[in-house]
Amino acid sequence: MEEILLTNVSKSYGKEAAVKDLTLRVAPGEFLTVLGPSGCGKTTTLRLIAGLEDPDGGEIRLGDRVVFSRQAGIIVPPERRNLGLIFQSYALWPHMTVAKNIALALEQKKLSRTQIDERVATALEKVQLTPFRDRFPSELSGGQQQRVAVARLIAMQPSILMMDEPLSNLDAMLRTDMRGELKRFHRELGATTVYVTHDQMEALTLSDTIVVMNEGTVQQVATAYDIYHRPINLFVAEFIGNPRINRLEGTLRRTDGTAELDIGDLSLAVPADLPIHEGRLVATIRPENVQISEQETPGWLPAHLDSVLPTGSETILQTRSEGVRITVLIPRFLTMTIDQPLWLRLEPDAMNFFDPGTSRNLLF
Ligand code: ATP
Repeated sequence: MEEILLTNVSKSYGKEAAVKDLTLRVAPGEFLTVLGPSGCGKTTTLRLIAGLEDPDGGEIRLGDRVVFSRQAGIIVPPERRNLGLIFQSYALWPHMTVAKNIALALEQKKLSRTQIDERVATALEKVQLTPFRDRFPSELSGGQQQRVAVARLIAMQPSILMMDEPLSNLDAMLRTDMRGELKRFHRELGATTVYVTHDQMEALTLSDTIVVMNEGTVQQVATAYDIYHRPINLFVAEFIGNPRINRLEGTLRRTDGTAELDIGDLSLAVPADLPIHEGRLVATIRPENVQISEQETPGWLPAHLDSVLPTGSETILQTRSEGVRITVLIPRFLTMTIDQPLWLRLEPDAMNFFDPGTSRNLLF
């Protein structure tokens, strides 16, 4: 399997920088997802690696081959980069059946008829489209066309795979099935994979590594666990997680070796060893890391229950403690009475602390 290495890669369209000075390594066999809001440069990054766009500067390597270097004047065209590509638009040939669309690239690779038939059948089975093998793309729904494009990629067995929102046209249930299929498929094939999405759930479920981008710049490259639990800055903390992370901004106060965060009338104990002495501070905590009690509990924050939103498998509680809004997520169906008193415990180990000036996580 091949690694992908981007060094100081930049790309602008006119005055607008789509990707700024990007340095990134995708390890051989790794599943890396580029995640970020619309317009942050995800698709551009993928297109630069694939050779569909040329960077303004920097170097791109695939395995031991330099495929782009402005300095050395190297530009390897997309068809010679040996990548499997799948984009939001799946580019199926309208005059060819599903099976033929999948077989085409294999015929170009000069595989035997038996090998081609086997690979087409397996790929169709994996995307649950076996009964549709003889239909034309115009006889399929958007989601089915997308699955043909995934099947075509599965059949090609490339060593590097690039996917741009390949599941965006599928309904929720099929999307979950296909996520599972993609993950299994990646494990079987072991292809180095770059996956682009704005859907955090997709990124968290699929990836070994997530790259969070904003405005053309990489914010954090980390495992799904660290992106979720140890975000490097406030942008990452607030972009990931649904319901949103609780953001508690106040003033740090120190007395006799202890530290407290004053947010209006609410005082929250915080670690005394935070690397700032005083001033503004943002504490964050995920809604599932707030515990509740219906009985008064010493040391817990008194709160008022504003609303109860059961979603089936979980319940979202909107609460207020001394006027500060705190969202709580309970992983089960819960019936509670609005306006009842509650006591909250913010799990200390699950909190992160940020400097609101630089937005950096102070625990790093
Ligand atoms: P989305 O999730 O909406 O697809 P993205 O993160 O993939 O967004 P890109 O498509 O990489 O974002 O675009 C990054 C920036 O570059 C955007 O501001 C976009 O408007 C701009 N851009 C992208 N392609 C072009 C182009 N061909 N010409 C001009 N500007 C472009």
